[in-house]
Amino acid sequence: MIANKINNYTEPILQRMTNEGHTIGLHSHSHKNLQFGNLTLIAEEVDMATEILTDILGVKPKSFRPPFGSIDVGGQEYLKEGYTIVLWSAGCVDWWFTDNNIPIIESFIDCYEIWIS
Ligand SMILES: [Zn+2]
Repeated sequence: MIANKINNYTEPILQRMTNEGHTIGLHSHSHKNLQFGNLTLIAEEVDMATEILTDILGVKPKSFRPPFGSIDVGGQEYLKEGYTIVLWSAGCVDWWFTDNNIPIIESFIDCYEIWIS
């Protein structure tokens, strides 16, 4: 979850997800690229997001997906005590689909089939 995207509409969804047993991980505070970030920026992005999500959910998130999948060694070191870094092996650029007439699941399945072929 990108913490600065939490609002009155998304907060109840996050609470429901938690209540239903789903895991919610951090995706930073504002989605800045942390690959070349200094430790101050990384700490700020992680700590601010952690504080916001912990306040809302009542539990501290334990996983972190770096924006753009980019995090340097210093960032990895910063995260290693409290977080599991989560990356991915396939991406379907779901943010790219703009045709609201096509259900997102169809676009995702099409993309997935391309990835596995
Ligand atoms: Zn992202």
